[in-house]
Amino acid sequence: MIRPRLKYFIQCDEVRNEHGKFSALGIFDTIYSLFFPATHPRFFLLVGFTGPEGSYPLDVQISDPSGRAIAEVKGRLQIAASHQVANAVFCFEKFPLVTPGQYTITLFLEGDFLAEFPFFAKPPFEARQRTPEEIAALLDRPDIVKSANADVHCPKCRTLYRFQHNLDPKAPVAAGFLALPPGEFFYCSICQAQIPITQLRENLMRIVGVPKSWLDGHMQEPPSDPNAAGGIQG
Ligand SMILES: [Zn+2]
Repeated sequence: MIRPRLKYFIQCDEVRNEHGKFSALGIFDTIYSLFFPATHPRFFLLVGFTGPEGSYPLDVQISDPSGRAIAEVKGRLQIAASHQVANAVFCFEKFPLVTPGQYTITLFLEGDFLAEFPFFAKPPFEARQRTPEEIAALLDRPDIVKSANADVHCPKCRTLYRFQHNLDPKAPVAAGFLALPPGEFFYCSICQAQIPITQLRENLMRIVGVPKSWLDGHMQEPPSDPNAAGGIQG
């Protein structure tokens, strides 16, 4: 028996269908985010097949960098005529980007593995220490983010800790906030639970010092991890 054959696989920002003619806009294989976990508002998969006429179950599964399945969509491929390409479109909304790394999209046709494709999530640049001269120049600019906050709940006792990171290392943290301690963990003062803060520090270090416009639209979705919520001040 001849199975349908994949002719193309396109991951993109938007798919338009004008009178049965498909257009893919903003084709990509990497999503950039200033912080993690993040939520990507929306993306599409456009897949084209050729093969015998018929209706076939077509499923898409996406796994995160640790291999855990985080999204699954079940669809159908309709091939109306064997000499024409049949398209199927999948839309993923509020997609969770838990960590940076390689995500994998796997296609299953009639329940059998068909193909897999990677895409990547990463920060646009690595968090790093700035020189005093760089900091002084950035502090003079009104368009630069000078301070970033993150709320963290102890995973065990739910005590709220509010951390702040400032572009100016001499600037005190605002009332009610803590400066981020060095090291991988923060220890809850109530229950002594270990709270990992490496990702949090990288997020805050990456946010301060960038133009505020970079964050437009970026912070509309709160991070999906209930342990971490972010905030920004000019
Ligand atoms: Zn605690």
